[in-house]
Amino acid sequence: MVHRKLSLLLSIFLLALPVFGQQQSPSKPKPRVIVVGVNGMELDIIRPLLLKGQMPNLSKVIEKGAYGKLRTVSAPNCPRVYSTLFTSTNPEEHGVTGFIVGGITANTNMLKEEPFWSMLSKSGITVGMANVPATFPVMPVNGYMISGMLTRGKNCEDGVLCAPKLSEVMGGDAVYPKTMQAELLKNVGDFYIDCERMPAAGDLKGHETELIDKWLGKVQVIRDQQSKLFDYLLTEHPTEFTFLAQSCEDRTGHWLYPITPFNVGYNSSINSVRQDAFPHQYVAFDKVLGPILKHVDENTYLIIFSDHGIKPLREFEEKDPHAHMDHEKTTPVIAKHDFADGDDVPGSFFAMGPGIKHDLRLMGLGASVYDVAPTLLHIYGIEQPKQMRGRILTEIFENADNKIAAKQ
Ligand SMILES: [Zn+2]
Repeated sequence: MVHRKLSLLLSIFLLALPVFGQQQSPSKPKPRVIVVGVNGMELDIIRPLLLKGQMPNLSKVIEKGAYGKLRTVSAPNCPRVYSTLFTSTNPEEHGVTGFIVGGITANTNMLKEEPFWSMLSKSGITVGMANVPATFPVMPVNGYMISGMLTRGKNCEDGVLCAPKLSEVMGGDAVYPKTMQAELLKNVGDFYIDCERMPAAGDLKGHETELIDKWLGKVQVIRDQQSKLFDYLLTEHPTEFTFLAQSCEDRTGHWLYPITPFNVGYNSSINSVRQDAFPHQYVAFDKVLGPILKHVDENTYLIIFSDHGIKPLREFEEKDPHAHMDHEKTTPVIAKHDFADGDDVPGSFFAMGPGIKHDLRLMGLGASVYDVAPTLLHIYGIEQPKQMRGRILTEIFENADNKIAAKQ
């Protein structure tokens, strides 16, 4: 209901856009922001890579900006956290409490609170989004939207943790506006929308090395396709606000986290095969970040965040009969993030741009997923709506002389 109301409002607004556009003064460009979501980026894994110089692009962002842990919600998983980040309201308020809600795969029709990109669109800011989890079916924006994790399609009928191709999407639109789909198929190809499903313990048995390598190969194919898509969109369809997301990193961590024999669930035939598989995901992510950085000039804000981290199984997990299983309860999972205590698996936050402090490390868990939307609205000079529970992350901005910070 609320979603329909939002869509209707937005449709009315979009009809009025040309007039709106004409009223804009060309001398006052709006801020440009690129947000990159990395699923389950775990600081414990990336810190050694940063120290070894294996993530040169992220290191550059850290040097030029502010970074730290990002407090997440309890029992964090992608749809639950992303929807919290979209709306700055808690899961019970926005309605997307997990992968499955009331027996149905989470979808945008369930979203009961207005997401920030709808607010940006209404304010005349151009919005582009690609592969962001929990954005299926796509919603109308002042620009384009390509859905991400939880998109339903052939061989991925329930949409949970599987990879449909763009041409195989079912049960809703994966691209807004619809006309953009043919253009993407022609210029980017028939790309996978989400990451590959994890293999089952039964399939792995006796074929561990072969299956692990095959799975990792597919992950890299998906990442390459995503990277091509992101570069195409940033080049051919630049928007004032752009939101891109990656999801394969987290999936790898669940069953290939580099644990040692004393960790729960350790199976030498799986966990000693490619111990660098999970760290390597971030080295590969850093290579995706490179081409994105080419689109970031000194007037562009770049925000990279992770919705949660991921850690080896916790003590209380031993009592859970499904502790080593994924959402389908078939994969030999050795690391997770949906622990009752979300503070065990904080996400991460990196920001750089005009007026953002350099080389600032945010200590503790002062910044939270609730704060991202208010901070983004603030950058565009849009007042934080009452329902939003987060705060503007004023500590990352230079000083009161800065126009952005002065609005506080
Ligand atoms: Zn996630």
